[in-house]
Amino acid sequence: MEPGILVINAGSSSIKFATFLDSGQPEPKLLLKGQIEGLGSDPSFLVKDAAGQKIDERDEWPRGSPLDHAGALRYLLQWLDECAGDIKIGSAGHRVVHGGLEYHRAARIDEGVIADLERLVPLAPLHQPHNLAAIRALAEVEPGLPQVACFDTAFHRTQPRVAQLFALPRALLDSGVRRYGFHGLSYEYIARRLPEHAPHAAKAVVAHLGSGASLCALKDGRSVESTMGFTAVDGLPMGTRTGALDPGVVLYLLQECGYDARAIEKLLYKQSGLLGVSGVSNDMRDLLESDDPDAAEAVELFVYHVGKHVAALASALQGLDALVFTAGIGENASAVRERVCRRLEWLGVRLDPEANRRAGPRLSAEDSPVSAWAIPTDEELMIALHVRDCLRPAGGSPSSRPVFDLGDSHVAAA
Ligand code: ADP
Repeated sequence: MEPGILVINAGSSSIKFATFLDSGQPEPKLLLKGQIEGLGSDPSFLVKDAAGQKIDERDEWPRGSPLDHAGALRYLLQWLDECAGDIKIGSAGHRVVHGGLEYHRAARIDEGVIADLERLVPLAPLHQPHNLAAIRALAEVEPGLPQVACFDTAFHRTQPRVAQLFALPRALLDSGVRRYGFHGLSYEYIARRLPEHAPHAAKAVVAHLGSGASLCALKDGRSVESTMGFTAVDGLPMGTRTGALDPGVVLYLLQECGYDARAIEKLLYKQSGLLGVSGVSNDMRDLLESDDPDAAEAVELFVYHVGKHVAALASALQGLDALVFTAGIGENASAVRERVCRRLEWLGVRLDPEANRRAGPRLSAEDSPVSAWAIPTDEELMIALHVRDCLRPAGGSPSSRPVFDLGDSHVAAA
């Protein structure tokens, strides 16, 4: 039996998963990807192989199985045992949205880590409880399985203190109201890949443009600034999220328009962004195909803000060598990339339109002062790498380079 790593990304009503073969290759090899959706209502199970071919699908849950995270994980482990060939899952990694200020890298999960993650629930009430539910459920279903928590915030803990502060009274800053940053696993993966394409790009801005969208400034491969802050609603307009919004708007809605906290939350996270402005869709593909002027304006607003924030991050970097596009829109929407790059010509980004249409990976002209790239992200692989790194026996000879050696001062205190 070959050793396998199970990667889990748990939401309120779904569990996305992937399995990797880990037998000493430089990077674990993807075997399967899938999801269990509709937990708590109408469940469905789908698995694809590494090439994206469907290999199993089921939309009837076995009778008597509870439709919760534990039931879903029990089902998944049994399915993997019976149907996934010569793989023995020996460890698991979870995407965990919040690691607070303490967790600078992935951590092997024990009671202490779980207690820390519970304390962080108020900082990410929409996601952290579901990440924790999956961790607890897997511990219940497979008590001996080593589990590793991989944080969306951890990669940003290298940011200078000034980038992590709000202009708020110190007591609030000290209580944890800080800019944490998110999408860290995606940025860490791009930081790992970028030197293969642009070995001399010391100052890079990475645009993770998916349903959620943010930018990260990388200096020598480490995060120094990002557009998401205390929550994943800050920064760029997204599929359904506002992005940065004058806080005075929230006060106005509360004081003058009869909104309460729940209505504000719904507005900020679910009803705004591309969907709110267009009134058509939260999906960039629909907007690019639409004749509706409001759809066109939503795309224009998105492009405008990406350009504006790239320039802000170039200021944080004090220069710019490379611009990287990734995630659903960044990897696929050549029209959006083209428009963003055009807005950044003054900063030295010269697009090669043909290369952009082919999705590069190099998008810029040979003589472009700032190189531009499209590099697919792989958060699941990043989690598998963290699992392997975290569980490697102390003193054991590593079969691969460390995921990220941040030095002693960056090792999690917890
Ligand atoms: P997430 O993982 O955050 O749900 P993705 O990274 O998969 O999001 O990105 C999803 C978004 O990518 C979709 O909403 C869609 O707007 C966009 N997208 C995907 N493919 C294309 C494409 N070919 N052209 C334009 N946009 C695309």
